[in-house]
Amino acid sequence: MPSCQGRATSSLIFSSTETVSSIETQQLALHDFIERHPRLLVLTGAGCSTESGIPDYRDADGGWKRVQPVFFQAFMGEPAVRRRYWARSFIGWPRFRHARPNAAHHALAYLEQQGRMEALVTQNVDGLHQAAGSTYVIDLHGRLEQVRCMDCELRLPRSQFQAELTRRNLAWQALDAATAPDGDADLEAMDFASFEVPSCPRCDGTLKPDVVFFGESVPPDRVRVAMAHLATADALLIVGSSLMVYSGYRFAQAAAAQGKPIAAVNLGRTRADELLTLKVVAPCARALGSIKRAPAGAAAEAGSV
Ligand SMILES: [Zn+2]
Repeated sequence: MPSCQGRATSSLIFSSTETVSSIETQQLALHDFIERHPRLLVLTGAGCSTESGIPDYRDADGGWKRVQPVFFQAFMGEPAVRRRYWARSFIGWPRFRHARPNAAHHALAYLEQQGRMEALVTQNVDGLHQAAGSTYVIDLHGRLEQVRCMDCELRLPRSQFQAELTRRNLAWQALDAATAPDGDADLEAMDFASFEVPSCPRCDGTLKPDVVFFGESVPPDRVRVAMAHLATADALLIVGSSLMVYSGYRFAQAAAAQGKPIAAVNLGRTRADELLTLKVVAPCARALGSIKRAPAGAAAEAGSV
């Protein structure tokens, strides 16, 4: 991590290439950024939820950490890919469902309560912002707790779908998260042919999680609403996203085009590093946690993975 280059921290202006070494100094700079921009558009990504025990996809250089996630075209086109996806998801769902918000989610909910938030836009599909108390969240990539029929648009609660998966795949239920810590690695060598995936109960169509997969477009209406909020906001704060996916990067591009300052909290490189006014290189919960004293239980939640 580069040092502070000797710039007076009281100016609280950092160049795009500059990061500061101490977490406290970075927290102060972040607080100052938030203080000076009372109508923030906040964009969050996977890094915001890693401290809640939900793994992210990217390493510090923005590359894939593990095997690439399933792409939309493969999921829709290949029954074997769907079986493998749903088998992994079936095993990983209980842990995902039990994840709890961490100090970063609580801090962002607090900013909304203080009237400081123009909008909270998230690339995450875990619902943890809402669980922390944020009431106005644009779920850019949808929510994993819902399943959608790609043929007739029927929506099913994931809990109902999970029950059906369980009923049809009792032998698979014995595999738990301890067997497959990341919900997939240890399943890689398994034969998925026996995993039975139900089709739509109404039209027999293909069921898919109601989230935007890699290779799939974000619904344009959702983007328009988020962009309208950006136009009203006075700054963009990115929390835990490398912005490697265009659906997120375009907000940084738009903010820069509108001359709005951009801050980012992220442990690694972001695609927008050259556009940033402030870069905070720290875990999201640590960087944001001091914005407010976390509510009772939140500190324990933040640490539990
Ligand atoms: Zn259907």
